[in-house]
Amino acid sequence: MITQPVYFDHNATTPLSNEALLAMNQVYQFPYNTSSVHQFGSKANQLVNEARKNLQNLLNAHNYEVIFTSGSTESTNTVFNGIEGISDILFSVIEHSSVFNCRPHNKNIIEITSDKQGIINILDLQEKLPKHSNFLVSAMLANNETGAIQPIAEIAKIVHQKSGLIHCDIVQAVGKIKVDLEQLNVDFASVSAHKFRGPQGIGALLVRKGIDIKPLILGSKQEKGKRAGSLNVAGIVGFSVACMQAQENLTEFAKIGNLITKLQQGLKNICGDNLYILSQEVAKIPNTLFFAVANQNSQTAVIHCDLHNIYLSSGSACSSGSVNQSRILKALSAEEKFLQGGLRIGLGLGNTEQEIDYFLNVYQQFYQLQQKLCH
Ligand code: PLP
Repeated sequence: MITQPVYFDHNATTPLSNEALLAMNQVYQFPYNTSSVHQFGSKANQLVNEARKNLQNLLNAHNYEVIFTSGSTESTNTVFNGIEGISDILFSVIEHSSVFNCRPHNKNIIEITSDKQGIINILDLQEKLPKHSNFLVSAMLANNETGAIQPIAEIAKIVHQKSGLIHCDIVQAVGKIKVDLEQLNVDFASVSAHKFRGPQGIGALLVRKGIDIKPLILGSKQEKGKRAGSLNVAGIVGFSVACMQAQENLTEFAKIGNLITKLQQGLKNICGDNLYILSQEVAKIPNTLFFAVANQNSQTAVIHCDLHNIYLSSGSACSSGSVNQSRILKALSAEEKFLQGGLRIGLGLGNTEQEIDYFLNVYQQFYQLQQKLCH
C-alpha cells in the first residue's frame, strides 16, 4: 500500500538531505559573515572554503575557481554578460530556459539544432561557428527533459580549435553521473545545489583558472570581486554536504536505471503504438524518462496523477489557461499528435518498485478513460 506522496519530479528539485539540513541548522545558530575579521568571520571562511574544496573534488575541478552564486541561472547570466570581447554566443535549441532565454542585447545569438534523439547537432555547430574567435558556445551536459547526455568533450575540442570559449550547464548531471570538468575540458560550468539534495537558492559558477570574468552583481568585494553580496553561509554548507553525499551515492544512483526500465516496459504495455519515448537510443542520466502519448493532454495527466498523490511534470508549459506545445518535443521534430502529450518522470534515490507499480496502475486508469472519451 502506498501511503506517502510519490515524488517523481526530481529533475525539478530534490528533497533536502537530512544531513544537509542538520549542518545548515547548526550554521544558523551563529552570526557568520565571511567579511568579518573576528572569530565568527574566520569560522565562516573556513566553512565556505571547505565547501569550495568539496565541490572541486566532486567535479574534479581543482583547476577551476569556484564562485558561489544563487544558482545556475545566475551563473549562466554571469558568463553570458561577463566575458570581455565576446561578440557571438551560440547555444542549442534544447538548452534549459536559463540559457535559451539569456540573450544579452549587445551579443549576436546563434541557435544550434538538435537531432531527433535530442543530441546537439555538431555539424550544424561547425557550420555556424563565426570566422573570428570572439565567441562563446554554451551546451548542457544532460538535458533536463529527456536526460540525454551531450558530447561535451567533443564540442569543447571543436570550440578550442577555433580559439573560442565553452560554457557547460552541468545542473542535471551532477549527482546522477560522474562529472569530470578536466575531462570535459570546458571553460565555465554552472551548477545548482537543489538538484542533488542540497538547498535551493545556492549554486556556483566554475571558471577555469586564468580566465577573467566580470561580476554580474556589483557591490562589495566578496568572492574576490567576482560576485558581490554577503555569502549564504548556511546554504553553502548545505551545498557542501550534498556534494560529499553525491560522491558517495553515485553507484547507488546508477541502480535507479532499473526502475526506469520497468517503467518504460509498463508504459509500452499500456499505450502500445501510441507511446513515444524521447532519446530512447542514446545515453541518458539514469533517473529520467520523458515520454509522449498521442493526442494526450499532458496537463490533464499531471492533474490525474496529482489527485492520486503522484507528483510529476508535463513537458509543456501552461500559460493563461492554455497548454503550450513543448519546446523540446518540437526541437526533436516530434509528430504533431505528440506535441501536447509529454510527461517527464525524474526519479530519485528513495523511489521504489512499488511506487512504479502504483504509478502504472494510476496511469493505466487515466489512459483507458481518455481512450474511451476519444472514441
Ligand atoms: N539548467 C538546467 C538543465 C535545469 O534543469 C535548471 C533548473 O531547472 C537550471 C539550469 C536552472 O537552475 P536554477 O533554477 O537553480 O537556477
